[in-house]
Amino acid sequence: MPEPAIFKASRIANSDTDGWLNEHAVVTDDAGRIEAVVPAATLGDASGMRVYDLGDVSLLPGLVEAHSHLHCSADLEAYANITSENDDRFVMRAVGAARKALLSGVTTMRDLGSRNQVAFPVRDAIEAGVVPGPRLLLAGTPITTTAGHCWMFGTEADTVDEVVKAVRGQVKLGANLIKIMSTGGNFTPTSNPRTPQYPVETLRAAVVEAERLGVYVVAHSHAAAGIRHCIDAGVHQIIHCRWLSSDPTVPMDYDPEGATRLAAEGRWVDPTIGLATLGEEARAAGAPPRKTHWSVAAARPSREQIVEMLQDMRDRGVRFTAGLDMGMAYADFDKSSYNAITFVESLGYTPWEGIAAATSVTAGALRVEDTVGSLQPGKYADMMSVAGDPSTDIRALASSVDVVKGGVPVKLGGKALV
Ligand SMILES: [Zn+2]
Repeated sequence: MPEPAIFKASRIANSDTDGWLNEHAVVTDDAGRIEAVVPAATLGDASGMRVYDLGDVSLLPGLVEAHSHLHCSADLEAYANITSENDDRFVMRAVGAARKALLSGVTTMRDLGSRNQVAFPVRDAIEAGVVPGPRLLLAGTPITTTAGHCWMFGTEADTVDEVVKAVRGQVKLGANLIKIMSTGGNFTPTSNPRTPQYPVETLRAAVVEAERLGVYVVAHSHAAAGIRHCIDAGVHQIIHCRWLSSDPTVPMDYDPEGATRLAAEGRWVDPTIGLATLGEEARAAGAPPRKTHWSVAAARPSREQIVEMLQDMRDRGVRFTAGLDMGMAYADFDKSSYNAITFVESLGYTPWEGIAAATSVTAGALRVEDTVGSLQPGKYADMMSVAGDPSTDIRALASSVDVVKGGVPVKLGGKALV
């Protein structure tokens, strides 16, 4: 249970997450919320309050991760495991994954698809304090076509009626949002990443039903044709967004006008580019490449082509969320910092823009910016600290020292308390 406390640190991110407050303190209340952020020297009588002097660290809002798959194993066996393990194992994986993410500094996480209903009891157990983990926002199972992308842990639905029923089914189970696979994906041998899985009218039906029930739709989309369908259907957020050509001999079919429309209509895109950085680093360290299947083994866009396309999208005003695709090969649950690291190192973000992307900006995309994502009075005291200064060296973000969730420390001085 939270108790009134004071967290002092050498550097504390300001309320806009774009600069430091030096030698300040975060004052929290018995509801786990931030009461004030004040210069440490002005603190009055602290009797009755716990005081945590975190020392020479950079204290930031807890990371907000937009894209996990809690039940996946985050290694090269992810596909083999998902097609052979049972729900008990998935729940155990999810519990371990949630703790790992939390201790790395992730205090809010959106799961974009876990098998059967395994993510819901994990979310409930975290909320009840039974197991440690970030605040979870869940899609439930992804909605996909028969044999479509991630069918092995999705809800198969082909027609408008089936998709509408699948949306209702996930909301009934407690979903905070809907995930739909608008194209095939690299993970699923029986799908084709280069072509749409659904026509516009089916995606539109999912959007209308989701909005009627107070949730939003996030669509996985690799293919340019699938992205166009999502735009025409009014899908709220697009994942990957690689603009793959339907011609397997041509890498990409990027449509700048489509990007302009995404920006004008305020759609969010999760470019999942941190995963690429992790893959490159793993392979440089000797890890074997991830297996791909026929449809992606053809002309794949290069890293440079993807970066150039994403930079153009950003120049056109498209908003990016920090989503790693945790659970896939190379994307372990303690690697959320690679979202910001890659935004800075590859897409030209400033370090503060990268930090904001991984905290307040993505909180906005997840529709929880009123309660988390920045260190402001009234919001939950969800915080993480790192040694060094991530505003000059973004890689500092990768090593959390302290983690506080709802005013309760779960890691102090590098030592896990949960
Ligand atoms: Zn994913």
